[in-house]
Amino acid sequence: MTHAIVPYLFETEEHAAIRARARRFAQTHIAPHSAAWEEDEEFPIELYRTACAAGVAGLGYPEAVGGQGGDLGHILAGSEEMLLAGRSVGTLVGLGSHGIALPPIVRFGTPEQQRAFVRPCLEEGKISALAITEPGGGSDVASLATKAVRDGDHYVVTGAKTFITSGTRAHFVTTAVRTGGPGHGGVSLLVIEAGTPGFTVGKKLKKTGWWASDTAELHFDGCRVPVANRIGPENGAFPMIMMNFANERLMLAGQCVAIAELAYREAIAYARERHAFGKALTGFQVTRHKLADMATRIAAARALTGECVQRVLRPGGELAATGLAAMAKNTATDMCSYVCDQAVQLHGGYGYMRETLVERLYRDARLYPIGGGTREIMNEVIAKTEGTSRERRARGAAGAGPGVQASSPGGGGRNLRSAATWSTDRWRTLAVTSRRRPASHHGGGRSLTASRVTGRPPTPARSGVRAREVLAARMRAASCSSGVVRDRCASPCRD
Ligand SMILES: Cc1cc2nc3c(=O)[nH]c(=O)nc-3n(C[C@H](O)[C@H](O)[C@H](O)COP(=O)(O)OP(=O)(O)OC[C@H]3O[C@@H](n4cnc5c(N)ncnc54)[C@H](O)[C@@H]3O)c2cc1C
Repeated sequence: MTHAIVPYLFETEEHAAIRARARRFAQTHIAPHSAAWEEDEEFPIELYRTACAAGVAGLGYPEAVGGQGGDLGHILAGSEEMLLAGRSVGTLVGLGSHGIALPPIVRFGTPEQQRAFVRPCLEEGKISALAITEPGGGSDVASLATKAVRDGDHYVVTGAKTFITSGTRAHFVTTAVRTGGPGHGGVSLLVIEAGTPGFTVGKKLKKTGWWASDTAELHFDGCRVPVANRIGPENGAFPMIMMNFANERLMLAGQCVAIAELAYREAIAYARERHAFGKALTGFQVTRHKLADMATRIAAARALTGECVQRVLRPGGELAATGLAAMAKNTATDMCSYVCDQAVQLHGGYGYMRETLVERLYRDARLYPIGGGTREIMNEVIAKTEGTSRERRARGAAGAGPGVQASSPGGGGRNLRSAATWSTDRWRTLAVTSRRRPASHHGGGRSLTASRVTGRPPTPARSGVRAREVLAARMRAASCSSGVVRDRCASPCRD
């Protein structure tokens, strides 16, 4: 049985060029150290700068903010290659924490904020993290409790965050805080910089897997953050967070496909080498069928993830693919857990040993049904979007008019209750305005050129001022005291 990677169906020569670049970087700078870094629970901080210099840190970010161009598809291809060649999930996710911390700034931040925060991460190796989850809960984002009280030109932030990837080393943290009343309408995003008085990093957390990436608790005790560090409108962060989750889910699904691919390769190599009862393990039909099952499940998850990425990249697709992205994540996480488990099984006793790569991948895989929205929350999203879209299709069949193919907004993120009550119009407004940003980001719904990879001229930058104005005007026009669209808010703060 031979095995060569079957790329995503959307891949072109641009993706091949990105794969080659990511592979070279990972082979040179990660692979020789991957096992040691995982055991040490840390990779050297210089690697962030090396990744910038090698042109892999800015994949999926527009050139206008210091990136390499490209879209979510390019990110999936690049990440897969980094993992296959680098063989360290912890390093990949640690290096990639800006993939969840920067997109809201790229999409909704001012040019000054992009200059101050995005560019240094993509060009100079500065480190960013995203802090949503709190000790009191991660799934119910709309109930987050970290408070930010306005005091002149500052917010005074008090509260705590936990499980924050790259939290111990981040130069700044894109942080979800409560600036308004209860529910999704009272949430804002603040960029909180390391060294700000009142901001402390608690202990580095010990984990099952992802060892090379640091995971931290963060504490805010009367921490004064300039109002100028707020991303987008006050109390308007919830849909931004939900949009971020949608992309994160597909990135995580892509990581699962890559991890499984690596585990599968390891399993094949081992099964060919290892002999029992006078023949290689691949000589047993049960082994071949096991490998066939693994390959089939990887192919299925890759196909669904790839289709979802293609749909997300269509105009309006980000909204339309909400449910499908949740399905892709669950399919990929289940597949990854299964494949890694089978890979361990094929390795026998060696599969249980720390020196064996599949033992580590098996542990790494356990995060994926939890992080970025749990398996159960994904199912809530799917149930909600399925119900809504079927209802719409039925209404459309009965002559309800256009828009029947439009997606469901419900359940856009980890928070099933609040996301479910978010209005379609609001989601659509955010999706449209963010696509008018000067450039794309991970899942911007608009493919960029990847010109710095291919040498082609870049896509012209567009002004993002109009996008912010439209968003702010709509929120001002129809909002209650919490900034929630008056006749669409179903949260308890309704006034
Ligand atoms: C290694 C690691 C890295 C992480 N990195 C980050 C990061 O960088 N930034 C960040 O903000 N967060 C991060 N997280 C947090 C992660 O996103 C959360 O752990 C996740 O969203 C779940 O939240 P929770 O842990 O509070 O679980 P809870 O929300 O307390 O859920 C506990 C259990 O209850 C279930 N549950 C909850 N509500 C429902 C419901 N309505 N119906 C059915 N079941 C339900 C969940 O599915 C889960 O099984 C990270 C976590 C880990 C482990």
